[in-house]
Amino acid sequence: MKPVYPLRRTCKEVSALLIAREDRALPLVERMALRLHMAMCQACPKFERQLLTMRNAMGRWRHYSED
Ligand SMILES: [Zn+2]
Repeated sequence: MKPVYPLRRTCKEVSALLIAREDRALPLVERMALRLHMAMCQACPKFERQLLTMRNAMGRWRHYSED
């Protein structure tokens, strides 16, 4: 059995956290786990950038639709 590190998250869990973070503040332990994972992972920081780009695009779209 593999040892379980309390701050270890899989990429799948991290992407779920990144999405959840859009709606609610994450508990400190999840934020730490997220930062730790981001420092070690290649894929998740790219996914985070995509999310931010998407959110910015949505924000712009919302802004235009209000005009
Ligand atoms: Zn990852």
